[in-house]
Amino acid sequence: MTGRVCLPVVLLPEADERLSSWLARMATFYAMTVPEFLGELGLPQRDVFDLEWRLSEGEGALIAARTGVSEVALQAMAYNEFVPDARIMIARKNRHCCRDCPADVHRKAAALPWAFCCAIDGTDLHDFGGATLADLLGSARFDALHLHAKTGADLLNSWARGEGQGAFAPIECCSF
Ligand SMILES: [Zn+2]
Repeated sequence: MTGRVCLPVVLLPEADERLSSWLARMATFYAMTVPEFLGELGLPQRDVFDLEWRLSEGEGALIAARTGVSEVALQAMAYNEFVPDARIMIARKNRHCCRDCPADVHRKAAALPWAFCCAIDGTDLHDFGGATLADLLGSARFDALHLHAKTGADLLNSWARGEGQGAFAPIECCSF
């Protein structure tokens, strides 16, 4: 459809917010379901998780035209840079909670199984029962493992983005 104008109210995306999260917040604001809101953006029948996994330039342009959010910012909210094998790792919402982040904001990093601290404020994430990794392991063990866990998470983040291939061998069983 042509001649569509920018929506009157557009919520600003949060840092590292994923596209599905921002679209859900916008849909809630307009009292619509996500599929209804996608239809309003000119993307009827599009599954929001497929959309954020591989946002095409044309789709980015459509959303940019209706919301005024730049295509570059929209592409950064999608998972386009992730390798195909990583898709199964990406949960549909935050795997763990951050006490300092708004509950309705789902960040890209928080969908990944190896994230144990918030990418934005560094707070330890906790599971839905309230426990952090340090609670589960005990603080002495957590302190001993923390650097290894951080290194592992960094490697997995690189792997998910197709970076650093060949830079490290497959990780073998290691004992601490
Ligand atoms: Zn946080």
